[in-house]
Amino acid sequence: MPPSLFPRWQSRQLIAASSLILLVACAEKPTAADALPLPPAQPAPVVTVPNAQADTSSDIQPVQTFAQWQAGFREQALQAGISASLFDRAFLGVTPDMDVIKADRSQPEFSRPVWEYLEGALSPLRVRNGKRLLEQNAELLARLEQRYGVDRQILVAVWGMESNFGQFQGSKSVIRSLATLAYEGRRPQFAQDQLIAALQILQNGDIQPDAMLGSWAGAMGQTQFIPTTYNTHAVDFDGDGRRDIWKSTPDALASTAHYLQSSGWKRGQPWGFEVQVPAGFDYWQADGAQRKTVSQWLQMGVTLPAGTQLPAGSNELSAALLLPAGARGPAFLVLDNFRAILKYNNSSSYALAVSLLGDRFSGWGFIGGSWPKDDQPLSRSERVELQNLLNASGHEAGNADGIIGANTRKAIRTAQQALGWPADGYPTHKLLDSLRR
Ligand code: CA
Repeated sequence: MPPSLFPRWQSRQLIAASSLILLVACAEKPTAADALPLPPAQPAPVVTVPNAQADTSSDIQPVQTFAQWQAGFREQALQAGISASLFDRAFLGVTPDMDVIKADRSQPEFSRPVWEYLEGALSPLRVRNGKRLLEQNAELLARLEQRYGVDRQILVAVWGMESNFGQFQGSKSVIRSLATLAYEGRRPQFAQDQLIAALQILQNGDIQPDAMLGSWAGAMGQTQFIPTTYNTHAVDFDGDGRRDIWKSTPDALASTAHYLQSSGWKRGQPWGFEVQVPAGFDYWQADGAQRKTVSQWLQMGVTLPAGTQLPAGSNELSAALLLPAGARGPAFLVLDNFRAILKYNNSSSYALAVSLLGDRFSGWGFIGGSWPKDDQPLSRSERVELQNLLNASGHEAGNADGIIGANTRKAIRTAQQALGWPADGYPTHKLLDSLRR
């Protein structure tokens, strides 16, 4: 699933809950909260690549041959406790994978609008399959709810989003992909750490090298865990002694539940809900960093759809206002459970898709607001142009890298404010045209 507003290599990663999100050295450092107001229209690749160095370096040439790199890395792996025989078995016949390099360097020009992304993510077929799997796995899911405190609909929704319920896990050798990225990817150190973790998984006997398959970025199995996340969170729930997130549904769903539990999921709490925003609203408030209680938002004039009642206790929960397509599109109050989903994949489009998919399994989760379909997302070069124009007109957008991060959003808001427009921080053609004049 290629991200679109963000180049693939800038996508965000799933990491161990105990560590900091390795968001990066873009001029702007998005965080889960920062990501809220302006999501990538498609999610980042699952559980994968960290936001990277700002340097795009598409002309990087390795300074050593793959064999030289492998020999050097072998020393490090052995020092990290990997046995020589395991290393040599895992690397037997491994060569760099040019498709991986290509994917790593891809910076898509065009973005898919968030409404199209959601339409695909919430297809009637996926909803139907999810409902069937909820029934078929009812006993397992009840045990997982009991053990991890994560609601079954969300587990199945994540499963559906990550691998279409196990059907699309990626068919690349994880060792080969990660070796390629460690040899000449954009973030060699990250890839190398993942590769060591992958070798540890093999050494532990959870899976054989030729069955350790995943995405080009090294995300594995039905949960699309990267190896370090596997090592911290994968679970052997069926009790056969191996943590098999590839073939065992109990292991995969338990691993997802374990990760969401560590990410702060609270059983029975809503992820959030659609709201309406009153005319004349201060859109500076619609920023992931602006968290207020639900009742504070309601006091500011945000309203629930007619006839909706919140679950008891919701009023005191902390929430942010999410506008996936700016002030002209639907609005959502998103709560702490939404943030737990963002730790799986730090894209608000992704988290919204998971949330709504979980709701659809129960027959709701339909969006009442309408999308601004006449407002296609800016292309990458238009985003760069927008940033340059913002900078030229005194609104500090930071480095013109085509990434709409916190600084750029702030610059968009100040430009919108100067024009007397709602300051939602959302980049539009209308704003671009106005700055071109
Ligand atoms: Ca197992």
